[in-house]
Amino acid sequence: MCGIVGYIGEKKAKPILINGLLRLEYRGYDSAGIATIEGKEIKVIKNKGRVSELNNINDINNLNGTIGIGHTRWATHGKPSSINSHPHMDNSNNFSVVHNGIIENYADLKEFLKSHKYTFLSETDTEVIPNLIHFYYSTSTESGQTKFLKAVIDACKMLKGSYAIEVLSTYYPDNMIVVRKDSPLVIGKGKSENYISSDIPAILSFTKDFYLLNDLEFAFISRENISFYDENLNKITKEIKNITWNAGDVEKNGYPDFMLKEINEQPKSIRETIGSRLTLNSKVTITDLNLSKKYLESINRIFIVGCGTAMHTGITAKAIFENLCEIPVEVEVASEFRYKNPIINKSTLCLFVTQSGETADTIAALKLAKSKGAKTIAISNVIGSSITREADHTIYTHAGPEIAVASTKAYTSQITLLAILAIYFAEILEKNSNKINELKKDILLLPINVEKILKNTDKIKEFAKKIYKEKDVFFIGRGVDYSVSMEGSLKLKEISYIHSEAYPSGELKHGPIALIENGVTVISVLTNKLLLEKSISNLQEVITRGAKTFIVTNQKLTNDFDEVIQIPETNTLISPILSVVPLQLLAYYISKEKGLDVDKPRNLAKSVTVE
Ligand code: GLU
Repeated sequence: MCGIVGYIGEKKAKPILINGLLRLEYRGYDSAGIATIEGKEIKVIKNKGRVSELNNINDINNLNGTIGIGHTRWATHGKPSSINSHPHMDNSNNFSVVHNGIIENYADLKEFLKSHKYTFLSETDTEVIPNLIHFYYSTSTESGQTKFLKAVIDACKMLKGSYAIEVLSTYYPDNMIVVRKDSPLVIGKGKSENYISSDIPAILSFTKDFYLLNDLEFAFISRENISFYDENLNKITKEIKNITWNAGDVEKNGYPDFMLKEINEQPKSIRETIGSRLTLNSKVTITDLNLSKKYLESINRIFIVGCGTAMHTGITAKAIFENLCEIPVEVEVASEFRYKNPIINKSTLCLFVTQSGETADTIAALKLAKSKGAKTIAISNVIGSSITREADHTIYTHAGPEIAVASTKAYTSQITLLAILAIYFAEILEKNSNKINELKKDILLLPINVEKILKNTDKIKEFAKKIYKEKDVFFIGRGVDYSVSMEGSLKLKEISYIHSEAYPSGELKHGPIALIENGVTVISVLTNKLLLEKSISNLQEVITRGAKTFIVTNQKLTNDFDEVIQIPETNTLISPILSVVPLQLLAYYISKEKGLDVDKPRNLAKSVTVE
């Protein structure tokens, strides 16, 4: 995971690097560090802890260099500590590197370098990189800039695993080299200055013109120029992409946290995801997706693959696809799917859901499906992200940048988009047209209905105050209400550190009800009219055993529950898009009551680019 940032220009690099790192901190916050070129030397300031703490290190104010690199770490190899923080230097102190990813063969490379008398200070996999660069540089017969570039390329040829790296060298005080393989990296072009970052939002306030690097494209950067090379030192041409996101989208805009801002942005993000794709009296259109009836008829199975929240959207969408398209759907956790030899062939359609488009397991799962002949469609929120370059087709959610680690608006946009995709398939297949018009009406009403829920949050806040000290919470529901319960439970775990489990209501009696005792909180979603009575009986069973109950429903209930949050009625298939909102808010307020850092929960990072 981790975030990397770089600057080369005429301004002081330090404040720009710190600003970029603060925006990338959602990717990891075990440690932070920057390096700048100061005269003939590279100066490194780094420490365990948050980016803001770097400012407490006195020496940081002596950095005046106009070229620098920065890193915020999510430790994979070596505990979070000052010595393991990036940037890492080579033994000669002439090369400095920041790295996002994992060097899988670092142990072998370390042995190789040790046999050439190199020594290591840290426990990281990263430290082999600057030393390998030094090794190839010092044995090179090249000269000029090619000598630097070739040394970096040769070093990368030795690396197995994933990396986005930035390299500074005292020998080339006006240049920087960057490269990526299976980890994200973008270059923002300015006037006599260039910016490098793990993602676009972090540098969006400086430029809107971006180069999106592909795997193993090397960029040799100066203030005025950026030249691109492949592994064989051939020059390549790349086009600039103009990004239309607004810089204001990546600010908190008066909200105390990004998570609360993003929860409140859901009416807008859902509206933008619907866009002009779905209207009442015409068929769904999805730009760039032109699937024929013949192809859709040939599909005998759909896989929806993702991790965490993105996988939960698949569980909800399974019901939508099966209902409208009558094609069996399987939902898989990407890290399981990729190692289980799934039965896939050209009659299988595989959908991969990832907000960032950089989730390593999901990308690997897509590559596997493709290699077995399946058609692949990526659902991503980030234009030009890695997965979009691997998939046969990409459809974007237009949720805008999601910064908080716990996903909220991406979840609701993903289900909205999957529902639209299911309608698109059903319309081509000419199936279930009677159900489709009603569903379309309800999809178009989603933004207004989410707005209604967001206007009335007092009861949720109050209930959070009552239960924030609890150790275990249970979520129960049936059908789509169970699928959203899983997401509610995950939100609670992620940001409040309360242990919680989600169960299908009918499963309680087969085991988990043994855990219900006086005072335990049970949260239940009740939107499925047909299953209402059965679900209420299950709740009665836990109330009898002393449970406190928090209910999210769109039905009129006469029973006595501790708290009932009324939400607008909608088509059952898409009801998780509404019922998740009170669950997101409950997790949020509990986390706030506990005084936790909502946007950056412990041990987590947003864009999971490691396996
Ligand atoms: N593997 C490197 C480390 O542990 C980089 C980790 C990351 O990408 O956050 O330092």
